[in-house]
Amino acid sequence: MYSIAIDGPSGAGKSTIAKAVAKKIGFLYVDTGAIYRTVGLFAKKNSIDPNDEKTLAENFSKIDIQLKWVDGTQHVFLSDEDVSEDIRTPQMSMYASAVSALPKVRQFLLEMQRDFARKNNVIMDGRDIGTVVLPDADVKIFMFASPESRAMRRYKELLEKGKQVTYEQVLNDMVLRDKNDSERQTAPCKPAEDAVMLDNSLLSVEQNVDKVVEIINEKIHGLL
Ligand code: C5P
Repeated sequence: MYSIAIDGPSGAGKSTIAKAVAKKIGFLYVDTGAIYRTVGLFAKKNSIDPNDEKTLAENFSKIDIQLKWVDGTQHVFLSDEDVSEDIRTPQMSMYASAVSALPKVRQFLLEMQRDFARKNNVIMDGRDIGTVVLPDADVKIFMFASPESRAMRRYKELLEKGKQVTYEQVLNDMVLRDKNDSERQTAPCKPAEDAVMLDNSLLSVEQNVDKVVEIINEKIHGLL
């Protein structure tokens, strides 16, 4: 099986690009952020402080997360309830950022993520895919862009979904999440040594997809 790891900070366009590339090359797209968000949602639903590692760990046996794909789109289920939309709020972004800093939570989710890559050709996006989850991935890409352009993309995305937010709020949340995600002790968001660095601040979605396909072609000869 081939695996492609796409890491980078929030709002760098990883999911949009990875999803489009997966469709183009017939790989399974796995959005690992959705799994952390679902753990965050579990904490909220059960009134557990998302920073409380001990209580969360005591409840791991009750956290039943399943990923399913419908027409190439990943859906995430928490105890059989499709929570794919519920996890996309700014509040759940902050919950996800909090629970994902807890080593026990990362350990709990590690095998689940690796299992997808054992059974499928995958493009997996996250923060630590190339460094921790799939250190032997065939292709590793670290996607990034300025905080302002990432915040603007995320702001437009949320507006399109009818969410009431301001650009300043989105930018502040993003800067805070960048700080949490890159400064935490366990699996901080950082490029793997062998990752290709891709600054997409000035790239359109199409250009970005083409660039990623070009990188994959260079790394896996004869795949496409
Ligand atoms: O990618 P997304 O923004 O949906 O991820 C939500 C949060 O989950 C991130 O801010 C990050 O804290 C965490 N995350 C992580 N490791 C991953 C994917 C996401 O720590 N592989």
